[in-house]
Amino acid sequence: MEILYKSTRSDSKKVKASEAILKGLAEDGGLFMPETIPSLDKSLEELSSMSYQGVAYEVMKLFLTDFTEEELKDCIGRAYDSKFDTTAIAPVTGEKSPYFLELYHGATIAFKDMALSILPHLMITSAKKNHVKNDIVILTATSGDTGKAALAGFADVEGTRIIVFYPKNGVSPIQEKQMVTQKGDNTYVVGIHGNFDDAQTGVKKLFADKELEKEMAEKGYQFSSANSINIGRLVPQVVYYVYAYVQLLKNKQIKTGEKINFVVPTGNFGNILAGFLAKNMGIPVNQLICASNDNKVLYDFFTTGTYDRNREFILTSSPSMDILISSNLERLIYHIAGDNAVKNAAFMQSLTQNGKYDITEDMKAQLQDFYGNYASEAETSAVIKAYYEKEGYVMDTHTAVAAAVYEKYQADTKDTTRTVIVSTASPYKFGRSVMNAIDTKYDALSDFALIDELEKVSKVKIPNAIEEIRTAPVLHDHICEKEQMKATVKEFLRMED
Ligand SMILES: *Cc1c(COP(=O)(O)O)cnc(C)c1O
Repeated sequence: MEILYKSTRSDSKKVKASEAILKGLAEDGGLFMPETIPSLDKSLEELSSMSYQGVAYEVMKLFLTDFTEEELKDCIGRAYDSKFDTTAIAPVTGEKSPYFLELYHGATIAFKDMALSILPHLMITSAKKNHVKNDIVILTATSGDTGKAALAGFADVEGTRIIVFYPKNGVSPIQEKQMVTQKGDNTYVVGIHGNFDDAQTGVKKLFADKELEKEMAEKGYQFSSANSINIGRLVPQVVYYVYAYVQLLKNKQIKTGEKINFVVPTGNFGNILAGFLAKNMGIPVNQLICASNDNKVLYDFFTTGTYDRNREFILTSSPSMDILISSNLERLIYHIAGDNAVKNAAFMQSLTQNGKYDITEDMKAQLQDFYGNYASEAETSAVIKAYYEKEGYVMDTHTAVAAAVYEKYQADTKDTTRTVIVSTASPYKFGRSVMNAIDTKYDALSDFALIDELEKVSKVKIPNAIEEIRTAPVLHDHICEKEQMKATVKEFLRMED
């Protein structure tokens, strides 16, 4: 069955998967949604005997229906290879519930790799299918994790360039080192004097600049986005929910048809939305537990039905979840409004104008798949320390938010359903906060001395991604003012007159 994609904001024309991947965002500013959510066409038993790559094909073929088998398998093969430090790609660990689904075994040791290692291949395949001759220029503003994962994914992919802008004084030293040491002739990394919002606003302006678009086309370039709203990022994320379920089945940790819970540390709502799609495809899921940090807009939304971003932005130890506008929530709103673009557009307009919206009682009634809660900074550190002391398992701060919320969920509901905690980053990526949670004495150490201590404490070998940057030469030292972003892009693309 062919699946077409339509915008969440108007009943404009439907597009094929490859077109949706190339465009990223619909022209009316909406997000692309599949017209219907496909059902798995293989049994869970059959899937349980497959590799990650095999499951990836079975899931993605149902969404990306204009890709041939050969094209899709080629993209999957290039993405999920030895860049990952385990052949399982996304291993499910732990002897008993709660299990951990570790999504941090890729090139940049955070869950963004799961989608960003395949997006470049989906994108150039889409370009070929649509007879696009231009080189694709990926433009990204990053607060840390996405930039590096996108750089690693697009580096040396033929027919693409990637330009990443980051706030010069707004990312962690490890994150900056990861980016400025990026190899690849087609990669450009620029620090800007300004904060993440300045970088983001600047990038949005460049995307909307018609004059620039025309000049670029003349030189054989066009922009695209690696943003988490692209369906080329959403669809690959559905895979690991299916894979996690069938791994538990294969290992006889659950029985066929048994429902499980997933706890997901959430920011932009992309990861957990993929879990919702997996459930709708036929994976037996009881609750999707949405875990927030102190920026608890989503918790408030799930408990009251009001989404309200008018509040203080709080910097936490789980920075990849420090978000007040969860872009991918729009897809859920559209869905529970009865796939009604007009209704959804009104909510989104209210969000832009007033920073808030209230959903109807009917819509609220359709949120029963979700449970929301949040963890404070103190609760997050406490859970890291407790797991370390009890199990010897060291988790990162984002995963810890999920683990802390799971404890609250159990206390609230007394639910004993077997549960998977989605682990989104290696503890090495947020080493300082993790080690401080275990013992504040570590705070006196330098970044890399801390890493060595973490290896002793966790008994997990230092990942390559960290080892590499210890000694890697800085390859990018370009700094610009926020007003110079356009000139910088032109300079990189050698488009100056
Ligand atoms: C991006 C990110 C998240 C949040 O995922 P969303 O899809 O934005 O909800 C959580 N943890 C880590 C480590 C991340 O990088």
